[in-house]
Amino acid sequence: MIPAAFAYQRPASLDEALRIIASDSGAKVLAGGQSLLPLLKLRLASAETLIDIGRLKELKGVQATPGGGFEMGALTTYAEALETTSLPYARDCLSGIGDVQVRNRGTIGGAIAHADPASDAPALALALDYSVVLRSQRGERVVPLDGFLEGPFQTGIADDEILVALRRGPLPAGAGGAYRKLKQPASGYSIVGVAAVVASSGGSVTHARVALTGVGEVAYRAKAVEAALIGSDGSSSAVAAAAAHAVDGVTVNSDIHADREYRSQMAVVYTRRAIEAALGRSA
Ligand SMILES: Cc1cc2nc3c(=O)[nH]c(=O)nc-3n(C[C@H](O)[C@H](O)[C@H](O)COP(=O)(O)OP(=O)(O)OC[C@H]3O[C@@H](n4cnc5c(N)ncnc54)[C@H](O)[C@@H]3O)c2cc1C
Repeated sequence: MIPAAFAYQRPASLDEALRIIASDSGAKVLAGGQSLLPLLKLRLASAETLIDIGRLKELKGVQATPGGGFEMGALTTYAEALETTSLPYARDCLSGIGDVQVRNRGTIGGAIAHADPASDAPALALALDYSVVLRSQRGERVVPLDGFLEGPFQTGIADDEILVALRRGPLPAGAGGAYRKLKQPASGYSIVGVAAVVASSGGSVTHARVALTGVGEVAYRAKAVEAALIGSDGSSSAVAAAAAHAVDGVTVNSDIHADREYRSQMAVVYTRRAIEAALGRSA
């Protein structure tokens, strides 16, 4: 439980952090430490230098953006997001992550950058159509989260980049959402977690975002489910037919907590439940 030796740097500004990360190929960013520190202690990860960004003010804060969008700094903790969100389904998701300490220390940016295949926040952020804002000394780029999560613990972040914020546009009028999770009882991590955001108009579904975690290599949007749902009447049978596509094209995880067949079945069941609950909350 004692990590290998590492150097520790606590930059006073984002610019300084970006300078350090650009010049030290063995450096890793430390945010809330809720994933990185256990991995270092177990020696499943190593770093020559830890760049502690935890106190950088530039990476904190949540704000509505003009036109009805939303932006949150990468260092926004689960607890801060819970306090500030007006979305009941974001509360469903965030309140079920870890325990009080994890929610007080763990950051949304850290969860996205870490890309744990069972992490809850990436599924919620995918269903809300978030993009990530990445900064390096070369400049800034904004990348849709859909496509940024490349595989287990792998993202499109470059070695010299820091994730500085998450940003999304406005939600469709009357949109409702839900998060439904089958959790591993000891750790609380998702065996299956499903985030759904839907909107309807004139008796048919006009918008659907459905994202799963715990099921595949990394959180993903179930686009076949979304396609089947859009244009449907949102009835129980339409939702069940759409949810049946929850694992289309996905190599479903199999482990001691849930084998492939069980997890696949649960993915369908929890997708149906999440969509039904989301429709029940939409206007
Ligand atoms: C007991 C326990 C229970 C948990 N239960 C759950 C659960 O139920 N559901 C769930 O989803 N998660 C759970 N977690 C995991 C936790 O939610 C995440 O580990 C945490 O949110 C990651 O954020 P962090 O700020 O702690 O990241 P850190 O641990 O500091 O960093 C994680 C990784 O992301 C990188 N990183 C962090 N921030 C940035 C950034 N801004 N830019 C670039 N790279 C960055 C780091 O270099 C590191 O590789 C649990 C963790 C613990 C310890």
